[in-house]
Amino acid sequence: MENNTYSAWFQCIAGCEGKLPLNEIVYRCPACGDLLEVQHDLDVLRQTSPADWKEQFSTRLATMSSPGSGIWSKHEWVCPAVAPENIVSIGEGRTPLFDVPRWAKQVGIASLRVKLCGNSHTGSFKDLGMTVLVSMVKQMVAEGRQIKAVACASTGDTSAALAAYCAAANIPAVVLLPRGKISTAQLIQPIANNALTLSLDTDFDGCMELIQKLTKSQDIYLANSMNSLRIEGQKTVGMEIVQQLNWQVPDWIIVPGGNLGNISAIGKGLQELRAVGLINRMPRLVCAQAQKANPLYQSYLTGFSDFAPKAAESTLASAIQIGAPVSVKKAIRVLTAFDGVVEQASEDELANACALADRHGLFTCPQTGVALAAFLKLVEKKEIKPTDNVVVVSTAHGLKFSDSKIDYHESRLSGVAPKYANLPVEIPPALDSVQQQIQQHFGS
Ligand SMILES: *Cc1c(COP(=O)(O)O)cnc(C)c1O
Ligand SMILES: [Zn+2]
Repeated sequence: MENNTYSAWFQCIAGCEGKLPLNEIVYRCPACGDLLEVQHDLDVLRQTSPADWKEQFSTRLATMSSPGSGIWSKHEWVCPAVAPENIVSIGEGRTPLFDVPRWAKQVGIASLRVKLCGNSHTGSFKDLGMTVLVSMVKQMVAEGRQIKAVACASTGDTSAALAAYCAAANIPAVVLLPRGKISTAQLIQPIANNALTLSLDTDFDGCMELIQKLTKSQDIYLANSMNSLRIEGQKTVGMEIVQQLNWQVPDWIIVPGGNLGNISAIGKGLQELRAVGLINRMPRLVCAQAQKANPLYQSYLTGFSDFAPKAAESTLASAIQIGAPVSVKKAIRVLTAFDGVVEQASEDELANACALADRHGLFTCPQTGVALAAFLKLVEKKEIKPTDNVVVVSTAHGLKFSDSKIDYHESRLSGVAPKYANLPVEIPPALDSVQQQIQQHFGS
């Protein structure tokens, strides 16, 4: 950044007057209690032409030295308040956009791409927001703020990201986890990064309620996506998708939704790109929910006229097992602006969609399975047309969820009929046994 005229601030989403600086410890509007969002001075961003921005974004990605962050290649758009020396980065963002032409052809659409946000340090897109939040904390500490620790409630991935970024920055972290409701990989991550790991006999919504009370104290800083600094990092997912498509906008972007920060973020990034003139049309957005945790889907059925939180039931898509999503208002606003759709997926649908995706070379987590199942259902319903280009956002790496993948292939998931199971064949260590199996499998 050559100059410091870029500016951004917190503002109430309900439209209350007033701008709050990004280094203030505040998560809700002091006047009405509604959520805050980060607003950028778009006029300053407009002083650089769209063509120059595009050029700069790609040059920076190409020339950036290690770790090379997709987020910080868009520093002015994300969080201009953070000084370069306070950036805590582990090379997040700039993830692959996986083209799946064979699958697109099979279902009869123009193209299908999967944005692999889980190909990142802690294995989920949560790194994107956490680099921004922890960098801001590092800056606040440098400015002399007393912050004892940064804390979050989590369905597993937020806590992993928080713990890693805090460990890198030497900032204490506290994570509240719903006992028995996250994967083994997700549990070991904060433990390994030496976060104070609190395992609570409740669900995510219970942890979220507690964390909001806990962070009323100013010295424990809130790292959930209710803190809208996170959204600024996550919004680059939408920006990167169009950048990777050479600034062509796809017809659909499909995102699995739990607490609904990510769908809001992706919409926000695209809206800002359009406001500054880097794109001139918008995709339709789809939020995909697990049927077992579908309060937004229920609301969608009422045309969003009504929203009621509900207790989330146990689902394989444990990272979106949330019944009282904090960012619901932002999500509804974004979905309305993008002619959005909410779709749901059963356990059987999500697990089989995962396994089918894996047969195309992906290695898909259950949450992404929800989005892929929604994709297949919308093609089936002819909402998605044969000429459409579709991007599905993959939110985590499948390796974090290998337990449920093993259960799938061993037919141990209740309510799931595994159509694509592939079991290892146990044989003696002899050449003829191997040859016989190959013969049997592939024919002669
Ligand atoms: C957090 C998370 C989600 C849901 O994102 P929200 O912003 O809570 O809607 C989806 N998938 C994975 C893997 C996650 O970790
Ligand atoms: Zn307000």
